[in-house]
Amino acid sequence: MAERILALPGDGIGPEVVAEALRALEAAAAWAGLALEVEFELVGGASIEARGTPLADGVLARARDCRAVLLGAVGGPAWDALPVAERPERGLLQLRRELGLFANLRPASVFPALASASTLRPEVTRGIDLLVVRELTGGLYFGEPRGRSTEAGLRSARNTMVYDESEIARIARVAFAAARGRRRQLTHVHKANVLEVSQLWVEVVEEVAKDFADVSLQHQLVDSCAMLLVRDPARFDVLLTGNLFGDILSDEAAMITGSLGMLPSASLGGGGLGLYEPVHGSAPDIAGRDLANPLAAILSAAMLLEHSLAQPAAAQRLRRAVAAALDSGARTADLLPEAAPGEAGASGEAGALGCRAMGDLVLAELAKLPD
Ligand code: NAD
Repeated sequence: MAERILALPGDGIGPEVVAEALRALEAAAAWAGLALEVEFELVGGASIEARGTPLADGVLARARDCRAVLLGAVGGPAWDALPVAERPERGLLQLRRELGLFANLRPASVFPALASASTLRPEVTRGIDLLVVRELTGGLYFGEPRGRSTEAGLRSARNTMVYDESEIARIARVAFAAARGRRRQLTHVHKANVLEVSQLWVEVVEEVAKDFADVSLQHQLVDSCAMLLVRDPARFDVLLTGNLFGDILSDEAAMITGSLGMLPSASLGGGGLGLYEPVHGSAPDIAGRDLANPLAAILSAAMLLEHSLAQPAAAQRLRRAVAAALDSGARTADLLPEAAPGEAGASGEAGALGCRAMGDLVLAELAKLPD
C-alpha cells in the first residue's frame, strides 16, 4: 500500500524547493521498495489568495489522513500589511498546534565540503553533528497568565513559564529515542539554579532516563551551553530543552553551520504524524528565478523518511547523495563564498547551480550510490 504524503509548497521559493524534495523523496523511497501517494494542498499566502484564509478547514483533515506533511515556506511582502491573525504565518502556527506537534527536531551538522561557510574556524566546526530537540507547544510562549497592564501610570507586562510533568516526559522520550539512534549522549539544557520549572525538568528527565539506561545523560545550564556551542560544538550529540531556550539555542546551533539553505527540521507529535520543512523562509527576493538552494528541503525529506516512514537507511542514502553533490564542488548561489544570500547569483553566474540543477545532481548521486 502506498504511503500518503501531503505536500504544502506554500509561497515564494516553497514550490521550487518542495518540487526537488519530492523528487528526491520518491527516488529514495523507491530504493527502499516504498510507494508514495503525494497529495497537494495550499497554505499561507497561496491559500489566502485562493480561499481567503491561510489554512482552509479541509487541509487539516487531509493532513491527518496522511503519514507526513512536507512543507515549503509561507509568507511574503504581498501579505505583510495584513493583521497578524490573518497573515500567512498564522496558517503554519495553526497547523502545528492543531496537529499537536510538540517536538521540534533541528539537526545541525557541517558537511565537510562547506566547512568554510561557518563564521567559526574550521577546526572548531569540524565534526559538528548535533540535534536540538525543542519542546514546541508549552512553556513561556503559551503559559497563563500573560498580558500587559497599567496601574497608577506604571506599565507592566507578564508571561508565565509553566510545564507539567507529562509535557516534560513526552518530549524527553522523543529526545532519548533520538539519542539512541545516534551517539547515545543526551544533554538536558536548563536553568535549574534559578527556575523551579527547570528543577522539575531535571527531576522528570532523570525519571525518564531510567528507561534509557544505554543513553548517557548530562544536565547543562543554558548560559554555559550557549558558550560551549560556539567554543566546542562538536562535543554535543542531542540537546533537549524547553520552548524558550530551544528557540534561541536551535538558531545558534543552526548558524554555526553557516548556511540557511542547508537546514532541515521536523515537528513531531503524539499521533505519529510529522511535519517536515526547511528552516528558511519563502525568500521572496529570489523566488521564481530558479536560484533557491533545495538542499534544506531535500534534507527535510530525509528526516521524513527516517521519522515518519521508518526508513533510516533510505534517509541516510539521501544525506549521502547530498554530501556527494557538495563534494563534487556543486554549489547553489547562496553557498558560494562571495554570495550574499539572495543577491548573488544572477542565474548562470559561474559555478552556481540553479534549484532544479542541484535537484538533478542529488538524484544522479543517489542513483550512483552502491546498494
Ligand atoms: P528567508 O529565510 O526567507 O530569507 C533570508 C535570506 O536567505 C534571503 O536573502 C533569502 O534569499 C535567503 N535564502 C533563504 N532560503 C534560501 C534558500 N533555500 N536558497 C537560497 N537563499 C535562501 O527569511 P526572511 O527574508 O526573513 O523572510 C521572508 C518571508 O519568509 C517572510 O514573509 C517571513 O515571514 C517568511 N518566513 C517563513 C518561514 C516559514 O515558512 N517557516 C520561516 C521564516 C520566514
